[in-house]
Formats: sequence, structure tokens, C-alpha cells
Amino acid sequence: EVYTPKLLQVRYTEGSGDERWKRVDFPWTKKLEANNRKVFGNHFFRPNQREVINATMSGYDVFVLMPTGGGKSLTYQLPALICPGITLVVSPLVSLIQDQIMHLLQVNIPAAYLSANMEWPEQQEILRELVSDVCKYKLLYVTPEKIAKSDTLLRHLDALYCRGSLARIVIDEAHCVSQWGHDFRPDYQGLGILKQKYPSTPVLALTATATASVKEDVVQALGLENCIIFRQSFNRPNLWYSVVAKTKKCLDDMDKFIKDHHFDECGIVYCLSRMDCEKVAERLQECGHKASFYHGSMDPKQRAYVQKQWSKDEINIICATVAFGMGINKPDVRFVIHHSLPKSIEGYHQECGRAGRDGLRSSCVLYYNYSDYVNYCENDLDCRRLSQLIHFGEKFNPSDCQKTCDNCTNMFNSIEKNVTNIAKQLVELVKATGQQHSMFHILEVYKGSLNQNIKKYKHDSLSLHGAGRHLAKGEASRILRHLVIKDILTEDVKKSDLYGSVSSLLRNLSAKLYAALRMLRTVLVKEAGDGVMAYHIFGNATLQQISKKIPRTKEGLLDINGIGKAKLHKYG
Ligand code: ADP
Ligand code: MG
Ligand code: ZN
Repeated sequence: EVYTPKLLQVRYTEGSGDERWKRVDFPWTKKLEANNRKVFGNHFFRPNQREVINATMSGYDVFVLMPTGGGKSLTYQLPALICPGITLVVSPLVSLIQDQIMHLLQVNIPAAYLSANMEWPEQQEILRELVSDVCKYKLLYVTPEKIAKSDTLLRHLDALYCRGSLARIVIDEAHCVSQWGHDFRPDYQGLGILKQKYPSTPVLALTATATASVKEDVVQALGLENCIIFRQSFNRPNLWYSVVAKTKKCLDDMDKFIKDHHFDECGIVYCLSRMDCEKVAERLQECGHKASFYHGSMDPKQRAYVQKQWSKDEINIICATVAFGMGINKPDVRFVIHHSLPKSIEGYHQECGRAGRDGLRSSCVLYYNYSDYVNYCENDLDCRRLSQLIHFGEKFNPSDCQKTCDNCTNMFNSIEKNVTNIAKQLVELVKATGQQHSMFHILEVYKGSLNQNIKKYKHDSLSLHGAGRHLAKGEASRILRHLVIKDILTEDVKKSDLYGSVSSLLRNLSAKLYAALRMLRTVLVKEAGDGVMAYHIFGNATLQQISKKIPRTKEGLLDINGIGKAKLHKYG
């Protein structure tokens, strides 16, 4: 028997820009505006908030892609307040839920939550209240585990639904459904059951992670029907981005940066390991900052305590692993520093997004090692916003950055220089020396070192020994790094006879390589003072487009001789 997978078709409509949702003559419009002002203390709606509320209150399934800090919570809390019945909110973390409930209770909106580590009598009490005739709660928060594991909860929801009192189902941080997201949680995948069981209750899914694959996953897993999608730019104009090379003095630099720009202000320093968290926190304390640390291996009480201290401004700086922050609702975080590289650009965007939720100017500084080959950091020319937003499928015009990132600020002292030839020579060199040496070794040969191990190349027929001796210090090494970053060369860690266990530049010297090399049309050179040069290499076509154009030899190999003749275009 042949198994034919059922093709699911995702059907949705774009809501952003649809005039229908902007209207101010819905039956609930007056109540909406009054409560937004009186209860939440907001003078206006932020972009898409009114539209989302109108769509969900019209009974549609709605999917909201809104950047962190954009104000997603209001889009369900306000409807929850003015609609009869109860809104069920699924949220991934208890700490997040507690934070939300605290804010709701502050403005006198009755809300409760259920989680597995609550005492059973307490849970029963909440469940009883839920199905009572005069239930006081407007919102019930639960973790996805609760939906997956608690039949009792589902029975109570059934009862609410039958009575027509299940007003809305909200899935917060909906990207957790998707394996493509950076926060995959298996229990989120089971949430499709809610739509199956309660088909006439509108679902509202919210996230700040917007790649196309995540979106499709969410819509499918939750079983959203004819859903309306609202999305908006992920650019955060009030965040100032910069990338700084990480030296041994990194912590001094950090201390100085905070003192110069954000002294006594609130911030997060993201670190890789718990050791780093503790080390960095200790150092910042020594420098006179009110700092503390937060990581996964602290006990939950201790973690909650630190987070509370930070929320109440008793400490300013939290040095934390990525375990800290999802849904943190502190509006005045003035800086987010990455002491080590984030896992992905998406994660980076999310983590930076915790700064400046109040819309005021805030800084995002990323410290990185040259050994952490990350395109984003190595790139010291393209607008930081552009490089980030590309990952969300968003086209961003760098002139809209208005010089609020380091690269746009420094752009004016850029000059253009073609280093295709150097790149070509380095690749030749890797090939000619047998593709088994480290970067260091390659660079030594190129520089023309007279070291015993290196000198022997001098007399090879294909010798490039010393071909790069005229280059300024660090130039060749930066170009070589770019070749690795751009996948033209690959680096492999293996034992080498020459220098012990080192990384070697390797393989890949195939058609792909030459095609890719041909793509290197222009390299921009930036003068960064002290004669230090920074490079940027980029391509102008896809591999496929390129390889069609490269002439082939009789054996079907690409003819590499034409490479140098590739037409050079100007940047931009
Ligand atoms: P998100 O969930 O999208 O990351 P939140 O819902 O936590 O964002 O909201 C972020 C901050 O913005 C909160 O402090 C919230 O009070 C504030 N906020 C939301 N909507 C508005 C508004 N219309 N006017 C002013 N502040 C708002
Ligand atoms: Mg949120
Ligand atoms: Zn910029």
C-alpha cells in the first residue's frame, strides 16, 4: 500500500494594510478606547494593535507577527476585559505568566494561572471558580504542559465552551510550536487540540519570530482556519547597534562603555556559560556596578529573586545566559550587551529586542572574537539593521537607519579597493600546498616567511611564496577569513604534523569554489585609523547564474583562467 501524505494547504489573508480593520465604527470601538485609556493608561494604540483587536473580536483566527516590545499583550488583554467569558492564554514559562498576572492585577483585571508545580487544592479552587456561575476571572493562563497533561483542565474548558463562555484562545510566543524557531517546545505541538475541540472560539497566535517557515508551522500546528495575518516591520529605530572586537580587555571595555553611556541604568549582559555569567557579574561589581547573575543551574527561587530585584531596580545589570529574558516586560532596559555570540541572528534580534521597550534610545553591543566566524560581525560595512532584517524576509533601506548603527556611522570614511586578486592567490595557495595546512601556515607562506617549514615553498613551480609581502598587516588574514565565511574555503579541525592540533583550510576546491570565487567582484576597504584595514567581500549573483557563464574545458571542468577578467561593479 502506498502512503500518500496529506498535503495541508495554509490559507490566510494579509490583515496589515486592510482598511477594514482600521475602522472606528465597530460596536466595541468606544469601549475599547475608553478601557485602553482608563485601565491600561495608554493614550494611543500602537501600530496594528487596533487592527488585531478588531479582527479577533470579529471572530477570526488571527496570527500576529510583532516585534518584541511592540505591545502584543494588549491585543488580547483588552478584548479579554471587554468581552464576556474567559480568555485562555497559553504561555511557555511560569515566570513569564507570573509577570503578566502581576501587571494585570495591578490594573485590577482579575486573572489566574495554573501550573503543574502548584498545590493541588489551590488548582482545584481556581478550576471551581472557573466554572462557577459568577466567575471572577477574565483571563486564565496555563503552560502548554498543562494542556497536554491535565484532563481535568480540558474537562473544565469543555464546560466553559458548552456554555459559550470560552471567549478566546491565545497562544503567546507561538513560534515555540516550530522546530525552526529558536525556542522549540514539544508540548506546543499538541495545542492543535484546542482548535479541534473548540472550533468556534477564535484563536489569537502571537510571536516576534517571523521567518516564513516558522509562520507556516504555527498556522498548521494550531489548525488556524482562514486566518488573518498581521505583521509589521521588525526594525527597532530606537536601538543603536554596534559590534566590537573582543580583546583581553573586554571587561574593562564593557565597564567603560556602561559608565560612559548607561551608568546606573538597567541592562542585560548575555554570556555563554554560567561560569561566564558569574565571572562577568563579579567583575562588574568590583567596578562599582549593581550587577548580579542569572542562569539555568541556579535554583528557581534564587532565579526568581534575582529577577525580582532587577525588576524593582535594586540591581541594574543582570549577567545571564539566554535562559533569561523571554517575555521580560521591563520597559526601561537601556542596554543589551552580548559578551559572547548569540546562536543565530534571530536569537540576537530577540535578545536585543529586550532593550528599549519604552521607545527610548538604548544600546546593543556585541563583543566577538575573530575566531567566532560570524558573517554579521565580520561585516563592517552593511547596515546592522539590514543584516538582521534580511532574516525576517524584510527589505530594509539602509538610509532609514539614520546612522544608528556602527557601520552606518562609519560609512563616510570607506574607500573601495578591489582585492579579487589577493583572494584568488590565497585560494591558489591553499590548493598548491595540498589543502592540509592551517590558516596561519597559509598566511606565513603568503607573507614569504623564511621559517624552515615555510621556505621550501619558495622554489615550487606554482610558488606564491611571498606574493603577499607588500600587504599591510592583517590584510591577508582578513581576506582569508572572508573566504572561509563565504564558504569558498572550508576549515576542518584535524591533527596536523606541523602545528599539532590546528585547523586546516580544506577541500571544496571544486567547481563551486571557482564559481563562487568569480562572484567576488568588489572588496570594500575601510580605513579604521592606525593603518588598520577592514574588508568586505560580497557577491553579485547566485552560484547557478554564475556557473552557467563560466567556460568549461574539454573535460567538463570549469575554466578558471577567465576569473581575473570578471567585470567589476561598484558597490551599491
Ligand atoms: P510584546 O509582548 O509584544 O513583547 P508587551 O505586550 O509586553 O510587548 O508590551 C511592551 C510594553 O509596551 C509594555 O510595557 C506595555 O505596557 C507597553 N505598551 C503596549 N501597548 C501600548 C500602547 N498602546 N501605548 C503605550 N504603551 C504600550
Ligand atoms: Mg509578549
Ligand atoms: Zn545602519
